[in-house]
Amino acid sequence: MEGRLNTSGIVSNSKTDPNKILPMRYMWARNHYKDGVANNWTPEEVSMQKDVEQWKDSFSLTQDERHMILWNMGFFATAESLTANNLVLAVYRHVTNPECRQYLLRQAYEEAVHTDTFIYCCDSLGLNPDEIYNMYTTIPSISAKDEFVINLTKSIFDPNFEIKDLKTLQAFLHDLIGYYVIMEGIFFYAGFAMMLALKRQNKMIGIGEQFEYIMRDESIHLAFGCDLINTIKKENPSVWTPEFQADVIELIKKAVKLEAQYAFDACPTGLLGISTQQFVNYVEYIADRRLERIDLPKVYLQENPFPWMSQATDLSKEKNFFESRVTEYRTAGSLEW
Ligand code: FE
Ligand code: MN
Repeated sequence: MEGRLNTSGIVSNSKTDPNKILPMRYMWARNHYKDGVANNWTPEEVSMQKDVEQWKDSFSLTQDERHMILWNMGFFATAESLTANNLVLAVYRHVTNPECRQYLLRQAYEEAVHTDTFIYCCDSLGLNPDEIYNMYTTIPSISAKDEFVINLTKSIFDPNFEIKDLKTLQAFLHDLIGYYVIMEGIFFYAGFAMMLALKRQNKMIGIGEQFEYIMRDESIHLAFGCDLINTIKKENPSVWTPEFQADVIELIKKAVKLEAQYAFDACPTGLLGISTQQFVNYVEYIADRRLERIDLPKVYLQENPFPWMSQATDLSKEKNFFESRVTEYRTAGSLEW
């Protein structure tokens, strides 16, 4: 890797006054902030009454569906906190640009809302919190995903870590790719698809609606993360070496394998006419979208098996979608897609 670190860009910029947000330099960060605000919601706005009835009676849900719901509760309940901690303890310190920091504060708040959602679900369904919040250590397919991102980001958590050259900038990019692209962009998506497939059959519609809100937040987190990654690449072209690109592609392939493992574990027999392999194909389709978003070649060339998911996850449509549905977002009434 040749060259010196760009010290007048978006990260570790010693000339930036982090308290002076105007004039702005990176308008995309501002736009993501606005999109986040337009999607404001809280879990208590969504009624859980029908979910509670279905969860407590013995005929509404099959054993396999209950298993799938618990696995997703177990994964997301702790994944949201992992993401929030990484954001506040590792990412925020190094992203010195003020409009990006404003977005990061917004995202941190949204992660608190997501954490709250799983508290609300546990409370209303009467789930055993010890069981749910321990699943990230007791369920191998869940801990494998968490371990994977934690390992990618270890060096950043060292309190002495500073971005001082291209090598440390690469380590920082690893963290951003680990959390934004892999955790929020790939590891969340088998679960999103399963819970929304269930909702489409009128099962657990309260949780399903909360997952829709979370997924919309996450699609903005992902968009911000990719814009941040791409800006760092643009400002420091020499950091994006062919070796590093190959390394990132390998990481994403490994992540897709872990997500497939998780899908088969959470939903071994498929769900309401959808085979587990279709969930895996969906994850592959999503992974290609992530690769493209950071200018890497597609790997899977998979068709989208769930076009009904794309309304909420398709980043290119996101903008129009937000503009046309703003009133519904603000009032957070019933969500109809
Ligand atoms: Fe989240
Ligand atoms: Mn997030």
